[in-house]
Amino acid sequence: MYRSIVVCLCSYFLFACQSDFNNSLDDTIRTNNNAYPSVDQELWTYFQLFETEAAQRGFEIDLNKFDLLAEIHEIDQEDVAGTCTYSSDNPNEITIDESFWNSASQKYKEIVVFHELGHCVLGRDHNNNANSSGICLSLMNSGLTGCAIEYTGSNKSIYLDELFYQN
Ligand SMILES: [Zn+2]
Repeated sequence: MYRSIVVCLCSYFLFACQSDFNNSLDDTIRTNNNAYPSVDQELWTYFQLFETEAAQRGFEIDLNKFDLLAEIHEIDQEDVAGTCTYSSDNPNEITIDESFWNSASQKYKEIVVFHELGHCVLGRDHNNNANSSGICLSLMNSGLTGCAIEYTGSNKSIYLDELFYQN
């Protein structure tokens, strides 16, 4: 049965021009022996974090069990930070823009990787809802509507609850 390829383009605007010096990622996560053979090693930390956040919400997600390719390389379209390609014939494929990756903080890397895993693993579509202050209500925001993701402090767990529980 044929199913067309769907490519999600996730705007760079959401993530551009913002930086922070959040070093909260625990280095011990990096030393876990979890390995994702078809995934760029720079993404492993974020894949492990995704599994950890899912587990904390009662979802057992082993990303190795998904037919998933993930790589970091230059995306030709301007202002696109990441893509997720769904296809019935090929593994779901995540691409993270290399320029974005090389300039982004850990926080924005996490947002983009989680966003793409939201598409490719959780099957989420975009959610462009925002509150009256212009704060995006979902990590699955397309980045095209001008709202801002406030992925800090207690907001972070609210975003992650939304990401996993809306599935
Ligand atoms: Zn997207």
